[in-house]
Amino acid sequence: MALLTFIGAIQEVTGSCYLLETHNGDRVLLECGMRQGRNERQGSRDNEASNRAAFPFDPKSLKAVVISHAHIDHSGLLPRLAKEGYKGPIYATESCCELLELMLMDSANIQEKDAEWENKWRARLGRPPISPIYTQDDAEKALTLRRGISYGSTVEVAHGVRVTFHNAGHILGSAIVEIEIHEQGLTRRLVFSGDLGNTCSPLMRTPTPLSRADVVLLESTYGDRDHRDNHETLQELAEILEQAQKDGGNVLIPAFAVGRTQDLIYYLGRFYQEGRLPQQMVFLDSPMAARANDIYLRHTGEFSDTDREYIRGTGTVKLSEWLPVLRTTQTPDESMAINRIKSGAIIIAGSGMCTGGRIVHHFKHNLWREECHVVFPGFQAQGTLGRAIVEGAESVRVLRQRIAVRAKIHTLGGFSAHAGQSQLIQWVSHFEHKPELYLIHGERAKMDVLQRTLLERLDWKANIPEPGDRIAI
Ligand SMILES: [Zn+2]
Repeated sequence: MALLTFIGAIQEVTGSCYLLETHNGDRVLLECGMRQGRNERQGSRDNEASNRAAFPFDPKSLKAVVISHAHIDHSGLLPRLAKEGYKGPIYATESCCELLELMLMDSANIQEKDAEWENKWRARLGRPPISPIYTQDDAEKALTLRRGISYGSTVEVAHGVRVTFHNAGHILGSAIVEIEIHEQGLTRRLVFSGDLGNTCSPLMRTPTPLSRADVVLLESTYGDRDHRDNHETLQELAEILEQAQKDGGNVLIPAFAVGRTQDLIYYLGRFYQEGRLPQQMVFLDSPMAARANDIYLRHTGEFSDTDREYIRGTGTVKLSEWLPVLRTTQTPDESMAINRIKSGAIIIAGSGMCTGGRIVHHFKHNLWREECHVVFPGFQAQGTLGRAIVEGAESVRVLRQRIAVRAKIHTLGGFSAHAGQSQLIQWVSHFEHKPELYLIHGERAKMDVLQRTLLERLDWKANIPEPGDRIAI
């Protein structure tokens, strides 16, 4: 009998990690995510500590690693795994493999910078220096282990363990992972939802419905609520842009470089094509997002049919035709030059939850100005600067300065890359015979609501595992 251990993204939304051990002792790691932000159980310092803590398994003992998608909370500790001796294959979809290079090299760069910064004040206090969680060399090591698998094809990753990726519609290359385990003449099927896409969000397809499983792990990021309808959300964005133009301020949009940024560019391009984009300047202040754009443009075959048709219908071929007012800034100097623009600009920059990155600089110059608008298109985890602003903080600390929040704050849940409650229930309801269901990747309060709703609507009792829990498959 195979065993599954719940290691990370258990009653929290980051640090995704699960270990599968088969009867004959083969070990397959499903996800190797980093913890980010702060959660109910731990402070951010503890998150850092947990990203450094020893893995609860020997990396060298793993037969294979399987990754659902390239977001750092699902893939960010792969370089550490390689650093600690893992040399086996890392399976992911082909486009995910391309995005992994971007994500892991960027993350390694951040780890190196963070350690450098920390060591400066440690030196002043006479404390010994720390080393980065991992370096760019480690990331490169991990990247050599990638094995791209196309959606729908099946690969044997360990003895008797076969993996198939299905489209999760969350970001480019994102997958629902179906794992078949054959042992002692029996076949058991584990389905891991990965992060499920919002059926209303653009570019990506609807998450593939599956009907057969013995055990299902279901993400529950938005287990407690539905998003607003896509048309309403677009209308709301159009109104915000118009209002910002009238108010004479800028519009700041903190966005993840991969996923949310491409959705936004798609929408802003649509407004432009329809002649209803009031701003004449859209800055994409993120070299990483620009590189992600290139990867997205190489895989337009994965886009949803309706959005592809819409783009084709406008006769545009290149991004520069789709949204001609888009400017991508590469260097810090170019980024800082945006600070001189006081009105009429839309500025898209990372990080998505405002925990760092160039958006923080733009906050310093715009957040205290009441004519400016800030649009949050994605989930803001507890303990992040983004969450504090969304929850109505009157002032926040930005770059070691306290800054008043006087800009108008908007959250556009309809832009979420995650399925809302009804979409989660809809997807999971396709499974026949109510397999064993485990809720993962969600804050506890949201999971409780989803658990209750599943019971009421489908008469299906979902389990909420604790970190370290182990189940037989
Ligand atoms: Zn994700």
